[in-house]
Amino acid sequence: MSSIVIVGTQWGDEGKGKIVDLLTGKTDLVVRYQGGNNAGHTVVFGGNTYVLHLVPSGIFHPGKTAVLGNGVVIDPAALLEEIGYLKDHGVSVEGRLKVSDQAHLIMPYHKAFDKLRESLKGAGKIGTTGRGIGPAYEDKAGRSGVRFCDFLPENRKGLGERLKSILEEKNVLLKSHFHSDQLFDVDTVLAGAAAQYEKLKPFICDTSLLVNEALEQGRNVMFEGAQGTLLDVDHGTYPYVTSSSTAAGGACTGSGVGPTRIQKVVGITKAYTTRVGEGPFPTEETGTPVAETLQKRGHEVGATTGRIRRCGWFDGVAVRQAARLNGMTHLAITKLDVMDTLDSVNVCVAYQDEQGNRLHSLPHWLGGSGRKITPVYEEMPGWACSTRGITRLEDMPKLARRYVDRLSELAGVPIALISTGPSREETIFLEDLF
Ligand code: GDP
Repeated sequence: MSSIVIVGTQWGDEGKGKIVDLLTGKTDLVVRYQGGNNAGHTVVFGGNTYVLHLVPSGIFHPGKTAVLGNGVVIDPAALLEEIGYLKDHGVSVEGRLKVSDQAHLIMPYHKAFDKLRESLKGAGKIGTTGRGIGPAYEDKAGRSGVRFCDFLPENRKGLGERLKSILEEKNVLLKSHFHSDQLFDVDTVLAGAAAQYEKLKPFICDTSLLVNEALEQGRNVMFEGAQGTLLDVDHGTYPYVTSSSTAAGGACTGSGVGPTRIQKVVGITKAYTTRVGEGPFPTEETGTPVAETLQKRGHEVGATTGRIRRCGWFDGVAVRQAARLNGMTHLAITKLDVMDTLDSVNVCVAYQDEQGNRLHSLPHWLGGSGRKITPVYEEMPGWACSTRGITRLEDMPKLARRYVDRLSELAGVPIALISTGPSREETIFLEDLF
């Protein structure tokens, strides 16, 4: 039995989709434990590119089980759409997609609140995707959430009563605070969600039981994180974070599996850094040729949002912090080939604050304070030749090897694999993870 958590070590978009897809071959169950349809995984195989926002990409492998754990918030409309997309592409989901009966639903009013809040905030906006994920998590923590198990016929009456009082409060806010004329009627909301529930019913079950039984039977389980560690609601660059626990600990709470069950934590790390939306990004390059190279060669455009990603140098301090927060056992470096044309490369080894003090971790006040820190760089020669598609460490240019070794040293974690292109084949394996 092996249980592995896959987690992004930066601000998301590290290329987790490809690595998860790659490792799924040896996995029996792939489990998502947090986030919603704000994640975007791009998977390339058989010459086609597929984008998934909710369903674990393990669904592309016949015979594997894809699980949406209790920690995920689910927009039933988005899930039904994704199931349709998969069916249209010849991917069978029956019996292979499992959805936690404890997962919270993203309701239509969550989406309305998300959009209204973001539009009112103007310059202070967080840069959310407007899909209702934050408001759904707020209601979950506030004990006003709606879960799939609430829709069982015998629970509907109770749900209707709860929803009535929830909507009374929401409607007051919508009307008097947001001056919105879009109010929500309990019967309409309930009927809409119940109809979606009926369609999703075949997929809904106790997924904690399912995953734990699989582990007991000696099967391999992979927990797939969405977004990245620096977006974790507790440990990220608050308040510029997502609303869930993206770090490896979230795999336990978000799937109903105890910490003693987790054997390995693999941190997916891009060879440089990107960030989508607002928030601190110490090593960001703005308007420089390097930013343009990384953006263009790395196709750094959000899979979910279509937004251009901010790009910059590798941040060794942030990744070391992620290694600590996640208890990382392995590093997977992605998109090395994107840097192939650079003559020289920088890596951030410390920060300096406005008073000139050296900092060796990402300050917790960075997101909310408006204060700035500047990166302290170590300059290294670029390898200035192609690493694209290399599959053996021996074939890697010496300077590229030196670069990845330095990244591993800064993170304090050994490398398990290096990705040298978007497709499954373009990978160097240094260690067998299962
Ligand atoms: P995720 O959410 O972490 O999976 O990140 P994305 O969906 O944004 O994936 C990153 C993008 O980079 C996708 O288009 C992948 O196909 C692509 N990609 C992944 N690994 C590599 C790599 O090693 N090299 C290159 N050039 N592209 C990659």
